[in-house]
Amino acid sequence: MTRPYNFSPGPATLPEAVLQQAADEMLDWHGSGMSVMEMSHRGRDYGPIIEQTEADLRELLAIPAHYKVLFLQGGAQAQNAVIPLNLAALKPQRQMDYVVTGSWSQKSAQEAAKYGDAQVVADAASTHAGAESGYTHIPAPTTWRLRPEASYLHLCSNETVHGVEFHELPDLSALGSQAPLLIDFSSHVLSRPLDWSRVALAYGGAQKNIGPAGLTLVVLREDLLGHALPICPSVFDYRLQAANQSMLNTPPTYAIYLAGLTLQWIKAQREPVGQGQAELHGLAAVEARNIAKARLLYDCIDGSQLYENRVDPACRSRMNVPFFLRDESRNAAFLEGAAARGLLQLKGHKMVGGMRASLYNAMPLAGVQALVEWMREFERQS
Ligand code: PMP
Repeated sequence: MTRPYNFSPGPATLPEAVLQQAADEMLDWHGSGMSVMEMSHRGRDYGPIIEQTEADLRELLAIPAHYKVLFLQGGAQAQNAVIPLNLAALKPQRQMDYVVTGSWSQKSAQEAAKYGDAQVVADAASTHAGAESGYTHIPAPTTWRLRPEASYLHLCSNETVHGVEFHELPDLSALGSQAPLLIDFSSHVLSRPLDWSRVALAYGGAQKNIGPAGLTLVVLREDLLGHALPICPSVFDYRLQAANQSMLNTPPTYAIYLAGLTLQWIKAQREPVGQGQAELHGLAAVEARNIAKARLLYDCIDGSQLYENRVDPACRSRMNVPFFLRDESRNAAFLEGAAARGLLQLKGHKMVGGMRASLYNAMPLAGVQALVEWMREFERQS
C-alpha cells in the first residue's frame, strides 16, 4: 500500500521509514520490554536516546560547542513569551527589536509587548504598498531601524503561512548592531545548514521537519544563559534547563525519541550530484532535494496561466509554497481532484486563501511531481 502525499503545513508528513521503525519498536524497545513512552526519563534506557538525539542534531546542524541544546515544551508560541522572560534584561533598557515578515513574526512581536518595550523595527506589510496579502517580501536589512541598546533582534527565518524565507540571515554586526540575533526556525529547521556565526538563539516546534508536536527545540549561545527575570517560570528558565540537561521537568520523551529517529534518517540520506561526482550526504543531500522540489513547483506555477505565487522570488520559501488559482471559483474542484489523486491538505491558510503546498524534508520528489502533474492536468481542463 502506498500512502498519499500529505502537504500539510504541520503537524506534517514524516519519513515512512521513521514511522515504521517507531511502530516496530512500539511495544518493546530494543529488548527492554518497554515502549519508549513507558520509560523513566532518568532511567538507564532513556539516557542514551536523548544523548544520541542531541549528538545527531549537533552534527547535522554543526552546532558549535559553546551553544546549548534544550528540549522543551510549550511549542514555538510559548517561546514568544519565554524569550522576553529570559532575554529582555540582557541590556538595562530592556528593548526588544522585531522584524515582521509574516503572521508568525507578527505574533512574536505582539506577545513580547506584554513583557516590555518590544518594537517592530521593520514591517514587510507596511513597506510594500499594494501587496494584497501584505507579506510578500523582506525589507532590506539596511532599512531596519535597529536600536543600538536593544537586548536582541528577533525574526522568523521561514514564514509558514506566507511562504517567505530568509535565504541568507542578516549579519547584524555589519549593520552596526551588537544585538544577538534570535530566529524562529520552526518550519525550515534541518532543511538547510544554518550559519551560527550570525545566530545567537534558534527555536522551533518539532512538528514540521523533526517529529511530532510536543517538542520545542531551543539552541542558544551560552552567554545568553542566566539573565531570566525573577518571574520567569523555572521550567522555562534557559539557565536552569541547561544546568539540568532539559530535565528540570519531564521532557517530552517520546517526541524526542521520534526526533532522534528522524535525525538518523536525515544522516542516512544520499543524493547523486552528477556523473563522476561524489554523492551528497545527510543534510546536504536533503537540501539538494529541497531545492529541486521547490524549483519544480515554482516553475510549474510561473509557467502557467492559471496559478500564481505572489512572493518576491528572492525570498520564496522552499518549504511552504502558497499559490492561487486566478479563477478562485475553481478552488474546490482543484482540491477535490487533488484529494482523489492522493494529494492531501493543500488548502491555503485562511489568512491568505488559495492553496499552500508544504514540502518538508519527508516529502519525496515523487510527491511534488505528482502534484505538478495534477496542476497541469487541471489547467488543461480549465
Ligand atoms: N512559528 C512558526 C514559523 C510556525 O510555523 C508555527 C506553527 N505553525 C509556530 C511558530 C507556532 O508553533 P506552535 O503552535 O507549536 O506554538
